[in-house]
Amino acid sequence: MMQWSNWAGTAVAAPKVIHRPTDLDGIVAAVRAAADAGRRIRPLGSGHSFTPIAATDEHAVDLSGYTGVVDVNMAARQVTVRAGTTLRELNRILDALGLALENMGDIDKQTISGAISTGTHGTGATFGGLATQVAALELVTADGSVVRCSPHERPDLFAAARVGLGALGILSTVTINCVPSFVLAAQEAPDRLDAVLARFDDEAEGNDHFEFYWFPHSDKTLIKRNNRVPAGEPPRPLSKARQYVEYGLIENQLFGAVCRMLRAAPRLTKPTQRVMTNVLSERRYSDVSHRVFVTSRDVRFVESEYAVPRGEVVNVLQELRAAAAKLSYPVAFPIEIRVAAPDDIWLSTGYQRANGYIAVHQFQGMRYDEYFAAFESIVNNVGGRPHWGKMHTLGAETLRGRYPKFDEFLAVRKTVDPDGLFTNDYLDRVLGQP
Ligand SMILES: Cc1cc2nc3c(=O)[nH]c(=O)nc-3n(C[C@H](O)[C@H](O)[C@H](O)COP(=O)(O)OP(=O)(O)OC[C@H]3O[C@@H](n4cnc5c(N)ncnc54)[C@H](O)[C@@H]3O)c2cc1C
Repeated sequence: MMQWSNWAGTAVAAPKVIHRPTDLDGIVAAVRAAADAGRRIRPLGSGHSFTPIAATDEHAVDLSGYTGVVDVNMAARQVTVRAGTTLRELNRILDALGLALENMGDIDKQTISGAISTGTHGTGATFGGLATQVAALELVTADGSVVRCSPHERPDLFAAARVGLGALGILSTVTINCVPSFVLAAQEAPDRLDAVLARFDDEAEGNDHFEFYWFPHSDKTLIKRNNRVPAGEPPRPLSKARQYVEYGLIENQLFGAVCRMLRAAPRLTKPTQRVMTNVLSERRYSDVSHRVFVTSRDVRFVESEYAVPRGEVVNVLQELRAAAAKLSYPVAFPIEIRVAAPDDIWLSTGYQRANGYIAVHQFQGMRYDEYFAAFESIVNNVGGRPHWGKMHTLGAETLRGRYPKFDEFLAVRKTVDPDGLFTNDYLDRVLGQP
């Protein structure tokens, strides 16, 4: 028996068997071995979900030995990779081809399969999450069959499996629609919360990728605007020394040290946050897209994130400001606010809805129960849809009301996994028992 835990330490498990396939036959063999043993089986990504969505005490499949490119179609700008490929490796592959992901989230540690399976997203009012960039999938289903799906082959399975929660089978390859590589100009600047809220829609619509961080015990935010520069314009990155000082030292090492101090002395949080937000300054640079999208997150935290209709963001934040002021303990981490375009993926938070995403965080080891509960009750009043990989307490009955295609998803699940081979406790809660 082996111990498994996620990045945040919020989920632990002891899988009885961990299969480590290096080819497609190995994945099929793992599925058959679990079924023959009368056990359930879960695919593991990089463990970056905060929920126990990947956790299992039965059979697990570690796909870290099943990575790299399978096929490149330059004419269609489509690249097919093996399921265990991390976003970091994928970006390296795409760089060499002069291609890029159209949009990404904050980090690149996730596997492509884990990232799409939970609906991982970045920001940008005209851009969907990573799963919207998927052109086709290949997966191994419960009876050991290898099936393909795309808009033209088994379209229902494709609508379900792009954000499939690992409930429909083990993805073996993912084909991605890419774009020519591009440079982003980044502008980061401090601003006051009220001012940002007053022009929130203009910012969301006027920039390719707009987001902001708000420190909940202050009225200060850090806004980030990332915009594509015309093709051919060379990048003007920050110097290595500035990157090291501003991202490595200040955002990770110094911030980590401050958080540890606040964990030991929470009463210092509010004054410290005021000092920290007063020293935020503007920075401008440009770089290859993924170097702008991706940041390093060395300070460990816990997180909950909900998608809410974009028109509700301002109200939700105002209610959250009132709720944060009443908490019996302080919050050390900022709140992150992003936006995304509607999509057509059945269990995507973006299904037929333009969203704002609001993510609350707390430093690892500090209390978060009351804070996250207050947050959840606010977003639940406006039909919030939780990120499948981030902490929330919703169950199948509530989620059915938030996702118009919930039952269609379950019907597809019944066809590819009639006996619940791929389920676990988390999926039993959010999808119901198979
Ligand atoms: C520091 C940090 C930053 C983050 N930033 C963002 C962000 O900017 N935006 C955002 O939306 N999310 C973000 N997340 C959340 C993260 O992107 C998701 O939780 C993502 O699912 C993690 O991918 P993973 O490879 O670690 O998958 P895991 O967490 O290991 O697994 C996630 C799910 O994918 C399934 N899975 C894995 N491999 C396969 C496969 N081959 N076939 C089928 N199912 C599979 C697992 O069974 C599980 O259900 C962040 C998380 C952390 C810790």
